[in-house]
Amino acid sequence: MLFTQLHKQKPLVVSFELFPPKTAEAEAKLFEQAIPEMLELEPGFLTCTYGAGGSTREETMRIVTRIRKEFGIEIASHLTCIGASRESIAAYLARMRENGINNVLALRGDPPLNDPNYRPAREGFRLAINLVRYIKGVGGFDIFVAGYPEGHPECPDKYLDWQRCAEKVDAGADGIITQLFYDNNDFFEFDDYLRNKLGVTVPIVPGILPILSTSQIRRFCGLCGAKLPPQVSAQLDRLAGDKEACRQYGIDLATQMCDELIRHGVPGFHFYTLNRAGSARAIMQNLGLAVGK
Ligand SMILES: Cc1cc2nc3c(=O)[nH]c(=O)nc-3n(C[C@H](O)[C@H](O)[C@H](O)COP(=O)(O)OP(=O)(O)OC[C@H]3O[C@@H](n4cnc5c(N)ncnc54)[C@H](O)[C@@H]3O)c2cc1C
Repeated sequence: MLFTQLHKQKPLVVSFELFPPKTAEAEAKLFEQAIPEMLELEPGFLTCTYGAGGSTREETMRIVTRIRKEFGIEIASHLTCIGASRESIAAYLARMRENGINNVLALRGDPPLNDPNYRPAREGFRLAINLVRYIKGVGGFDIFVAGYPEGHPECPDKYLDWQRCAEKVDAGADGIITQLFYDNNDFFEFDDYLRNKLGVTVPIVPGILPILSTSQIRRFCGLCGAKLPPQVSAQLDRLAGDKEACRQYGIDLATQMCDELIRHGVPGFHFYTLNRAGSARAIMQNLGLAVGK
């Protein structure tokens, strides 16, 4: 498995998450500036999101293929199954294979917002675990799944959600990448529960989103159900009008969190980069993980 192989060479495996740029100008900036800057940090692999309900399916395929061809780096395509037919998932996986992309982050995804007519695809996959089983049956892919240190927002009991996360591993997932969080204790409890109570042995990789602005992080946390601890929230209120100070606070906070996570023994970090290298680079420099860069 890619992550395990990389982990044998390096104590910490870093991955950077991208999203398909919306304009040609943004794509040029990503390929000419952001990705080369990220590669200087020697990540193990990159990942690229798959828009809600498959809305960026073609763009995601094009971007992951371009990255693989132009930079030769390993990349994982995110893939959601909600609303997708079995045929369309099979076709996507076949194209991944043709294009040399052997890593997938298998997700359920979310039903489209504000669409009362939405119905799951017949003969499709209801949950990520069904997609994991299917991909495992196809064979030849390393499979990551999502984990939620605070529990998934739809699930009333985080321990039940964690049990379901472990079931995705039993179904064939090779690693777990977590949702963003800002209280390390949530990650520690999740990690300990999965390893010690549920017997999970695959890598559990914390997802780190360096805060860039007060309004943006409030919106993201609102969307994914992650909480901002009161002291973080209060500091963001104080810095709300000053974007640069907020970005610097995001770097300092993520550095402290990552430092503590390293001491806990995490196998790596997954940075939600929002297609920018700057904050991740600063954090890695602070941690001594980008010496000389
Ligand atoms: C690292 C990461 C990357 C992501 N990338 C994307 C992306 O690219 N595109 C995108 O659209 N979304 C993305 N998401 C968001 C994700 O699609 C949503 O969080 C979605 O709501 C859940 O997806 P899942 O794969 O975790 O679902 P699942 O694991 O299927 O879980 C969904 C819900 O179903 C519940 N459940 C599980 N098993 C059962 C069962 N047997 N019976 C009843 N309920 C059950 C779970 O407890 C949970 O509440 C990402 C999330 C993370 C953490």
